[in-house]
Amino acid sequence: MKKARWRKGIVEWEDLDDPEVMNLSVVFSWDAPAAYSRAVWWREFGYRVRVGGPGVFTPKVRRMFDGVAELGGEIPDTVTRHNGNATFASRGCDVGCWFCVVPAMEGRTFTLIEDFTPRPILCDNNLSALPEDFQDHIVKRYQQTGTPLLDANSGLSQRPSTARCCAGGRPSTEVPGGSLTTKPRKGRTWSGSAGCSRTIDRGGSGSTC
Ligand code: SF4
Repeated sequence: MKKARWRKGIVEWEDLDDPEVMNLSVVFSWDAPAAYSRAVWWREFGYRVRVGGPGVFTPKVRRMFDGVAELGGEIPDTVTRHNGNATFASRGCDVGCWFCVVPAMEGRTFTLIEDFTPRPILCDNNLSALPEDFQDHIVKRYQQTGTPLLDANSGLSQRPSTARCCAGGRPSTEVPGGSLTTKPRKGRTWSGSAGCSRTIDRGGSGSTC
């Protein structure tokens, strides 16, 4: 089985329950201006427009859509609009790395999706920090449905019981013996005692799992 390609840019679709609603999903904030243009376009055609996704998370970007589109709300399994082979078994992350947007955006505790649909690409934020019985549940669901897991693209701690952050969190508290003591800068590799490491690829902002 091949992994389906991720769709690039904004994804938009008519609401199945309400054909007068147009949904726009925006992954990256650099697509927000284009999403704004699309929202204005669809409004001209009489649609109510809803916009969501990590690309419209920050207040500055959200203000752009004032009077044009509704923001927020939940639409289950939106990830399949971006890639039909993708799924989530959990959302959020309880590790709380200071540089990471995941806890603020998806929750500071894990939301476990017991009845998730197994698909080849598993997109959870931090699989190995999940409760062990839920990790077992995920494996069982894949086995029971005979679904191949081709890509688990989340953070994976190498020593989940003591070093739960994929990149080290704050080493002094979450990864005993971790080596980072100052704010990360572009190009610096951040490593923890568990042997995990991550190179900061965006000046000062870090990268997420
Ligand atoms: S970087 Fe990874 S482990 Fe840290 S808060 Fe974000 S998702 Fe969780």
